[in-house]
Amino acid sequence: MSEPLGLFGGTFDPVHFGHLRLAEESIDHLDLAGVRWIPAGQPPHRGVPQVTAEQRLEMVRRSTANNSKFSIDASEVAAAAPSYTVHTLERLRRELGDGPSLVLLVGADAFAGLPTWHRWRDIFALAHVAVSHRPGFPVEAASLPQDLAGEFADRRLADAAGLKQAPAGGIVTFAMTQLAISATQIRRLLANGQSARYLLPDGVLDYIQANQLYKST
Ligand code: ATP
Repeated sequence: MSEPLGLFGGTFDPVHFGHLRLAEESIDHLDLAGVRWIPAGQPPHRGVPQVTAEQRLEMVRRSTANNSKFSIDASEVAAAAPSYTVHTLERLRRELGDGPSLVLLVGADAFAGLPTWHRWRDIFALAHVAVSHRPGFPVEAASLPQDLAGEFADRRLADAAGLKQAPAGGIVTFAMTQLAISATQIRRLLANGQSARYLLPDGVLDYIQANQLYKST
């Protein structure tokens, strides 16, 4: 089986160096062919958005453009209805077939919330899940919701080589450079008129300033 493809979904509101290092380091740690970034569409409960899905997508475009191993899937942004990860994975399977190994990349906080996702158990029939460590969020069975701890115990792969032995169904963890950066922190800094420089790429910050984004919470 060829090198697995990483899939990295998120709100990216805005994209920052925590996201970029996760994607970059996953390629080496998990021996991935590349990472496909999948910015989420606009969540329905947010009301009139301050930053549109197209603007979040544009910031991901700017920060990933010069990396040949990164690609972007804009279909969740383009969709009128809210997209669930399981639907996106089903679409990708229709596009790519059942053969290729697909690896959904998530931070430890997102992984702990997996049981709240639509049809979450079906995700394992469609992709592997790779969990990166994130400051403040331990990845261990004892701190996971019970249902997820069971899946974690049953599906955990000894190492990333297992990602090439099946197209889906395993869980791996990997240690990345610990960066306690969050989009929430960046939005707060910008709303308070404080500097967010060096937490995210300059090109993204330039775009934020040119479009006067995140001026208030
Ligand atoms: P917010 O603060 O708005 O909740 P966020 O910074 O957590 O945003 P998301 O777009 O929600 O960013 O995250 C997308 C994915 O990236 C998730 O799987 C999340 O766990 C992961 N992630 C985000 N920031 C980091 C980080 N600093 N280190 C490791 N993983 C991260």
